[in-house]
Amino acid sequence: MSDPKKPTPNHRNRLGTDTYLAHGGYDPQDHYGFVNPPITRGSTVLFPDTETMRNRSQPYSYGTRGTPLNTVLENIVNELEGSEGTILVPSGMAAVTIPLFAYLSAGDHALFVDTIYNPTRNFADTMLKKLGVEVDYFAPDIGVDIEALIKPNTKVIFLESPASNTFEMQDVPAITTIARARNIVTMLDNTYATPLYYRPLEHGVDVSIHAATKYPSGHADVLYGMVSANKEHWPTLYEAHNTIGACANPEDTYLIIRGMRTMGVRLRHHEKSALDIARWLEGQKGVGQVMHPALESHPGHDIWKRDFSGSSGIFSFVLKDAGPEHAAAFLDSLTLFGLGYSWAGYESLAVHVNLSDRTVAAKDYGGQVIRLQIGLEDAEDLKAEIAAGLHAAAAV
Ligand SMILES: *Cc1c(COP(=O)(O)O)cnc(C)c1O
Repeated sequence: MSDPKKPTPNHRNRLGTDTYLAHGGYDPQDHYGFVNPPITRGSTVLFPDTETMRNRSQPYSYGTRGTPLNTVLENIVNELEGSEGTILVPSGMAAVTIPLFAYLSAGDHALFVDTIYNPTRNFADTMLKKLGVEVDYFAPDIGVDIEALIKPNTKVIFLESPASNTFEMQDVPAITTIARARNIVTMLDNTYATPLYYRPLEHGVDVSIHAATKYPSGHADVLYGMVSANKEHWPTLYEAHNTIGACANPEDTYLIIRGMRTMGVRLRHHEKSALDIARWLEGQKGVGQVMHPALESHPGHDIWKRDFSGSSGIFSFVLKDAGPEHAAAFLDSLTLFGLGYSWAGYESLAVHVNLSDRTVAAKDYGGQVIRLQIGLEDAEDLKAEIAAGLHAAAAV
């Protein structure tokens, strides 16, 4: 058997991404030709003798420190992200919190984009502050002006581009150039794009974060997180993960590997339908701004076009001049769209977005903001249902 920790050959530079997703990370001949890797369960790993045990001179030493199955997924993600190493954790939130624990200490200062995923903000405002970390927020369009917010103790800048719920783009290279000059670690929650549509490490980001609960799972049946770091920042992340001990479950790891095999195909369907519906919505009565970065009308469209190779299946729109009762009428009329949190599954979802947590990026959108996750259904069926929902809202 080949060394399981040896990275698989770089297929991606020779072949297309879908080909890499179909074959990357694992050689079936390592396990008797079975197409998929076996699920490795285990705490104890036996050593052949005391010398090997003393030196830990074998690829695996204990279940929390990695398994052959983990290595398959780590290889795939490192290849896609261009990262030195990846940790696998039990949820997207763990993928947010573990790197913050890794790179921050009492007395440090951290900057977060104001349009951040709300539970990330909650972690910053409660746990980080409790541990003595100063936290400030900046507007998503800050660009090079971020320099003015940096203090001598600033250690981390946390980005999420496009933003949660309202999809503002951030000028990532402008921010990371300034951060690098000051030795500040930059992290980016890359859940929206997946590494197929955005590779943050190529834009100067040090740590890329994923709620793999979303597209890598794709079926609303797994909670999972992954964090990838560049060469300079990998040792700190790796040690923090081992210290905290939040390792992912093997069955879930297996399902995420399975999800990765079809992610390219699924993502393209989500992308096509979402963009089609977003363009159509722009012309509908009662609809204000449609917040989708691949639309020419989006204020961050130029940045999206410069840095991203695709868009995914989630966007928001404004129910113009509407109150909460109109939003409720729209949402309650839907049947194919479920009312529920999370996204990136095969099924469509809709939520009334709450933006009351925002400070420097707070603004009036001129109505109620509704977020749509476009699933794998036929786009025409979804459009018909949205059209009926707009009528229901107008009838209130
Ligand atoms: C869903 C999500 C998370 C958290 O993922 P969970 O697995 O639900 O904890 C983190 N960041 C973003 C941007 C998300 O959409």
